Amino acid sequence: MRRKTIDYLIDFQCPQCGAPATLAETDRLVTCAFCRVKSYLISSGVFHYCFSPKTPPEKPLIYFPYWRFKGMGFACTSVGVINRFFDISHQAAASIYFPPNVGFRSQALKLSFVTREIEGQFIEPSIPVSTMMEGAAARMKKNARTGVLHNAFIGDTTSLIYSPFYVKGKVYDAILNKAGPQPESGFNIDALKLNQPEWGIRFLPTLCPSCGWDLDGDRDAFVLICKNCNTAWKPAKDGLKKISLACIPEKKDDNPVYLPFWKITAKIDGIGLENYADFIRVANLPKVVREGMEKRRFYFWSLGFKMRPRTFLTVSSSVTGAQLEDKVVSGLPEGRIAAVNLPAEEAVQSLLPILAQFLHPREGLDSILPKISIHPKHALLVYVPFSEKHHELVHKKIPLAVNKNQLRLASNL
Ligand SMILES: [Zn+2]
Ligand SMILES: [Zn+2]
Repeated sequence: MRRKTIDYLIDFQCPQCGAPATLAETDRLVTCAFCRVKSYLISSGVFHYCFSPKTPPEKPLIYFPYWRFKGMGFACTSVGVINRFFDISHQAAASIYFPPNVGFRSQALKLSFVTREIEGQFIEPSIPVSTMMEGAAARMKKNARTGVLHNAFIGDTTSLIYSPFYVKGKVYDAILNKAGPQPESGFNIDALKLNQPEWGIRFLPTLCPSCGWDLDGDRDAFVLICKNCNTAWKPAKDGLKKISLACIPEKKDDNPVYLPFWKITAKIDGIGLENYADFIRVANLPKVVREGMEKRRFYFWSLGFKMRPRTFLTVSSSVTGAQLEDKVVSGLPEGRIAAVNLPAEEAVQSLLPILAQFLHPREGLDSILPKISIHPKHALLVYVPFSEKHHELVHKKIPLAVNKNQLRLASNL
């Protein structure tokens, strides 16, 4: 079944030369087609977008805010982890005069970034984004055959979208020029708080802070790579920050493809899981605990890019389950690498769903899982080698194959 998702396009102007461009919602690294200047898009908080009215209305515009979430949802239950892809929106201010969500809008309709120049009255968001996520959790609970013990959401996009309306007796949608179902009268804008959004996007130059070389990355990359001085950089509010980077090197002749994983160290409370021997016990793995296993620290391995939720969890769990012993060396591998489009801050949301896949016996999960709390301490970006086969990438030691089609899909999710 085809997932119902919307990929909005965003009207954009090159910060250098002003040339118009169209971005995907997930685009961060923007290369201008005219002046070729590359810049990285950052925002204070979530991205704020707005729709434009179809025709210039005679009435003043009111912009109503909606939260939008697009990404993976997981629900841990005593019989397994269920997953679902979400593309949802929800009122960010409470009003019965406006539609409950953004609704289906044609993809031809573009968004633009909210700027001070946009005329109209902006209604201030007063409902937290968590309200929308509670609704998403409730939907997963409905699908689960049993109680949900934990929910996790990994965002692809969490944004605020302002949609234009105007008042002509009733509240009219300024894109459809139609009034939705609402009470006959009584709309009073003074009941809602107005506030021109104090929000802006910023652009970071994409030159390596260490050597001045041009950094590399995909359009939706969250990690930029310097192939000159072998470093990795994470865009942050106050500029590019260096991150630890490593790989499990493979012979060049094998022409491996390296997939990025976040190797995460965490303090795990409530279950006594610190090392490999603990892991064998809590996961009831068919392995004998041998001497020295207590000295091997337990790590989570969470995939560094977006995939379908089921695949994402399978791949992350397989590599975590293997607790790879291969030598990890710092720096980039020599060979083809896949881009990181899932930041460590989002990847840590997957830790409990990954762990829940392993916990045994399942019967005790109802009481065990709610007691577990995971505190991530450190994330190391590690490129893990896979061998390329006709349709898939396979790991040499773990029974794990990643469909190449899904990899290409990954950037459109
Ligand atoms: Zn330009
Ligand atoms: Zn450099």
